[in-house]
Amino acid sequence: MTFDSLGLKPQILSALKEQGYTQPTPIQAQSIPVLLEGYDLLGTAQTGTGKTAAFTIPIIQNILDAPSERRRSIKALVVTPTRELALQVAENAKRYSSGTSLRTAVIFGGVGANPQIDQLKRGVDILVATPGRLLDLQSQGFIDLRSLTHFVLDEADQMLDMGFIHDIKKLLRLLPSKRQSLFFSATMPKTIMELSGQILKPNYKQVRIAVEKPTAERVSQCVYYVSKGEKPSLLIHLLEELEGSVLVFGRTKHGCDKVVRILEKKGVSAAAIHGNKSQNARQKALKGFKEGNVRVLVATDIAARGIDISGLEHVVNYELPNISETYVHRIGRTGRAEASGSSISFCAADERGYLKDIEKLIKAQVPLIEEHPFTEGAAEEWSVPENRIPAKQGQRAPRTSRGPKHGGGNSRSGAPARGKRPSRRR
Ligand code: AMP
Repeated sequence: MTFDSLGLKPQILSALKEQGYTQPTPIQAQSIPVLLEGYDLLGTAQTGTGKTAAFTIPIIQNILDAPSERRRSIKALVVTPTRELALQVAENAKRYSSGTSLRTAVIFGGVGANPQIDQLKRGVDILVATPGRLLDLQSQGFIDLRSLTHFVLDEADQMLDMGFIHDIKKLLRLLPSKRQSLFFSATMPKTIMELSGQILKPNYKQVRIAVEKPTAERVSQCVYYVSKGEKPSLLIHLLEELEGSVLVFGRTKHGCDKVVRILEKKGVSAAAIHGNKSQNARQKALKGFKEGNVRVLVATDIAARGIDISGLEHVVNYELPNISETYVHRIGRTGRAEASGSSISFCAADERGYLKDIEKLIKAQVPLIEEHPFTEGAAEEWSVPENRIPAKQGQRAPRTSRGPKHGGGNSRSGAPARGKRPSRRR
């Protein structure tokens, strides 16, 4: 299938061509036709699937097809849980509508409201927003939703996780009832389905980008058993071996800052993004990372959710997530679109239960790196269980051109392997 066969306008087709997109991704191929027909949509899809274009492209076309009497009034509203995602969606919308006269604006908290208010005053067709700032500016009279014809709730599960349910319900009361609604969520538990029922018309269409194996096929995965205390050394060791940019996930804000301090001491350019950082600091860190000036970005899940970093080579789960779906979101940061990537997990003794849950969800065992220079601590804490599959040669050196020297002998820095390998009952 090609984009031409979807009946898109020439301005949109040339914008897509400019992006280098040759054919629609599965979610785009499924969603664009039903959205052009005007149906509501329930989409189960993770980021990295081309979801953003799947909804922004038909919305742009629909707006162009139904010229509003009110020029520069908000016709489409996209609500996202995080600022980063809002920025990303807005960037996408701007790109795909570059050949049209539509104007896109983005508003979110954590920064001064005045420039956003100025933009709103100048007139906006597509507004991308996070819930708090949206309601704030609406209550101050800067946002008029009467001309709205399209509403998108993106990453609904994350929205609920972040406690936005009341804001969303409040917002729904402000929307015209005659509208096309799109509801996206990576997961569809009962609460999410209930919420979608309040937003979508009963004849909505559903697209599900089936992820039989929810972990992206292109991402090679491996896990290291390592004690908590050895994690910094293992990370530094891996950074010497791996090439390219690395996104490191921690569970806490404090933990992320600590990792950055350790890396900086070792001369590695690193930055953290998490909820305690100002919006400017977060954007600066992300920009530095995307441009390659910051090699390692250390993030909490909430800050990193939905972030699109093209060409990201490696994800390191410095701490395993306690919610297994989060693992899938994390490793989905790499291996996006056509790219390939690797995920390396550090598993301490008290995280073994998390690993088990993850493996249950992905219906596969994450291959274990059996030998590495930091096995000593791990060995003291547990022995490698039976039936644990070891990583194969290729998985040991995920996507590096040089290839790590994980063997129990010498590390790259010349440090001898410490202690014995974990006892293994095979
Ligand atoms: P998303 O899931 O919307 O965050 O998109 C993931 C990545 O895929 C982004 O970098 C998009 O620019 C890219 N992308 C979206 N649609 C296509 C397409 N049809 N062909 C190639 N890349 C795409």
